Amino acid sequence: MTFDLTNTERRNIWEHTTNALEQYYNNTEDLDTAIYPTRKDVLKLVDANFESPRRTNEAVDIVIKGLSKYAVHTPNPNYFGMFNPRASFPSIIADAITATYNPQLAAWGHAPYAVEIENMLIQEIGKKFGYQQPNIDGVFTTGGQEANLTAVLAALNYKFPKYGEKGLFAVNGLPIIYCSKASHHATVKAAKVCGLGLDSVRYIEVDTNQKMLVEETQQQIQNDIDNGNIPLMIVATMGTTGAGVIDPINELAVIAKHYNLWLHADAAYGGAVVLSEDYKHLQKGIEKADSITFDAHKWLSVPMATSMFITKHTNILGQTFSISANFMPQEEDEIDKLGSYTHSIQWSRRFIGLKLYMPLLVFGWKGFNDTILHQIKMGQLLKQKLEANNWTLYNNTELPVACFTDVAFEDNSEFTTYIYEAFLESGDAWIINYPVGDKFTMRACITNYNTTEEHIDSLIKGLNAKREAFIKAHQLITI
Ligand SMILES: *Cc1c(COP(=O)(O)O)cnc(C)c1O
Repeated sequence: MTFDLTNTERRNIWEHTTNALEQYYNNTEDLDTAIYPTRKDVLKLVDANFESPRRTNEAVDIVIKGLSKYAVHTPNPNYFGMFNPRASFPSIIADAITATYNPQLAAWGHAPYAVEIENMLIQEIGKKFGYQQPNIDGVFTTGGQEANLTAVLAALNYKFPKYGEKGLFAVNGLPIIYCSKASHHATVKAAKVCGLGLDSVRYIEVDTNQKMLVEETQQQIQNDIDNGNIPLMIVATMGTTGAGVIDPINELAVIAKHYNLWLHADAAYGGAVVLSEDYKHLQKGIEKADSITFDAHKWLSVPMATSMFITKHTNILGQTFSISANFMPQEEDEIDKLGSYTHSIQWSRRFIGLKLYMPLLVFGWKGFNDTILHQIKMGQLLKQKLEANNWTLYNNTELPVACFTDVAFEDNSEFTTYIYEAFLESGDAWIINYPVGDKFTMRACITNYNTTEEHIDSLIKGLNAKREAFIKAHQLITI
């Protein structure tokens, strides 16, 4: 058998595969959301027999069986977990198209259409965030992690013009990054991998609403200057991963400007609200940031590895990633600038942006607006119903993220662990335990566009029953 199957075989396999995928996509709700396997169970399905080749349909079935059995089914509307969406159908088709054409986006000349689509999307999304042309540039990344790493590298190149040639030897002191204690660890990981190290990150305290404290940020900056360190950048989280809280970016922008620091807005999740007329005000001030991280693979419901780094400094990506020593921003060729190999951590690069382009063509901005509104509405409903059932909320956000527990157990980590594990065992929903401040809370998020009131009711029912069971098991009933 050669690599190129016959046309008849391929048609048969496409059909077999689409039938199997449709079976999953259409009936995800019937599968357990949560899973609780042992490693031994999983390894039983990891087939490593490559001695006897088999038919492609058989190979498809092997993989589909493994994924169906041993994956948290994030496309299930009972998944209230992290920001993992059910991918919209046009975005799934986009991935199949990309894989088939396999365009190489490293250079414009190889895939001019794909490169121009991505550039247009960066411009359009940049405008939604309040950036103004012609001062918008950016690149699609594999995730918020790569986008945040790009931001740290951009800040280093901006602050230290010799960084490209000399690396950290161009720096006379330790550059410092400021982010809140509630920020995503993608920032500290970026600091670690780019050679700054863990010690270069200052975790700033948050207020009772989990927002980064502005005054303490300024004090830390002053402190670092006094100690011979070099403040480099502030990272404002525009929707924290845990509690969905948005940092006070307008105040942080004043400080960044005063000390000449790069201001990065990590809007990986929360940035999506700029697509909604009713809620875009929540991101007001983000246009003051030098750069923005925005994950389409979270709230925009597209498959993994679709994220953006967007900046208003049109030369900084070239300065950061071009490998020519005497990079001259002014002379950069317009077309060279669009290909990704001089503007991205990646070299060979797939058509990431198509996963966003296809659903935009199909649903338009309005479709995204409507979906975001629906999910915010479901979030409100979830919070109301939690409170009505004697669960207390510990976060304060308009985004559809709820951190909650029964106030009687707010200091009891056994309770949240019990509930979390009970959901894993029952499989009827997926939530996580996530502490807010020093309180042990659980976290439920509306991350699936198919989640409706019915799913929320069933979650609440499950929560109430598990609370009952915990109380019974611990004989905590008082009369
Ligand atoms: C998810 C998230 C990240 C990390 O992004 P990935 O796409 O998972 O790499 C960074 N920051 C925030 C605020 C996030 O929510």
